[in-house]
Amino acid sequence: MNQLITSNTKLTALLGYPVKQSLSALMHNTAFAYLNLDYIYIPFDIEQEDLQTTVAGLKTLNFTGFNLTMPHKQEIMQYLDEISEEAKLIGAVNTVVKENSRLIGYNTDGKGYIASLKEEKIPVKNQKVVMVGAGGAAKSIAIQLAMEGVEKILLLNRTIEPAEEIANTITQNTRGCGVKVQEFNQNNLQKALKEANILINCTPLGMYSMEDRSIIEDESILRKDLVISDLVYNPAETKLLRQGKNRGCKTINGLGMLIWQGAFAFKLWTGKDMPVDVVREKMLGRQVK
Ligand code: NAP
Repeated sequence: MNQLITSNTKLTALLGYPVKQSLSALMHNTAFAYLNLDYIYIPFDIEQEDLQTTVAGLKTLNFTGFNLTMPHKQEIMQYLDEISEEAKLIGAVNTVVKENSRLIGYNTDGKGYIASLKEEKIPVKNQKVVMVGAGGAAKSIAIQLAMEGVEKILLLNRTIEPAEEIANTITQNTRGCGVKVQEFNQNNLQKALKEANILINCTPLGMYSMEDRSIIEDESILRKDLVISDLVYNPAETKLLRQGKNRGCKTINGLGMLIWQGAFAFKLWTGKDMPVDVVREKMLGRQVK
């Protein structure tokens, strides 16, 4: 971020409701400042009924692009001129780029998640993955995992329908990945973990204000060679990740996904690599330990 904002300053933004908990402005403005780029990132609280007029307004201003968060990731799609293949498949857009007055939508969540695993040297090809939760984050991750060559995905969810919808999208659009769906309960989870390589928590259980909750009731079902990935990043160590550590598992929280999905958006807007280590250092201070 440039200290002096002028008419040349390129604008980027987050549209969501509410946005006060978001770390995206800290992430992007830290990266702009570090690379001395004349850009600024502003979070805006935009209610659902105001999205269309907001987007029309942004189109006329000096915006390079913007991010979308809850509750706008699906609705935004009808206001865009073009949508990338992966965003169409996921059915949601989290990043928009303005190119010659045209708005192009992308989804960087799944790619960001895979990058966070790669950074930790966790392989995905030919792996067996168990995912708990079937919301927006689970959908983008499951589709990306299938595209990256995972062998099997088991989706466990309280409600079967959204999990089935994800499974159908994967089966109809990718090859070679077996997807199954089951109700989320401890019995199904225990059986599934016997042959899994990676367990991913895609529910809010364990996040700030639910710190005493975990998808696992009895940690003895966790094998030492299982990788445990929690999308929650606040607190940095959730109850699930503590349970995994107790059992000797490799554990990874959601901060890497948050940073890498942002890094892909940053690249789309600026053409430059986000200084990921600098950004991470800044964001670590904002997590509940
Ligand atoms: P979402 O669309 O609201 O989906 C939530 C999922 O969690 C649903 O499948 C829901 O099941 C399940 N769930 C909610 N409460 C539950 C409970 N008490 N017991 C069992 N299952 C429960 O949310 P989302 O956007 O996918 O986000 C999910 C989590 O990922 C959140 O904690 C979010 O903060 C985190 N996240 C992290 C990143 C990152 O960059 N690290 C990015 C996106 C999301 P039902 O379908 O049965 O309701």
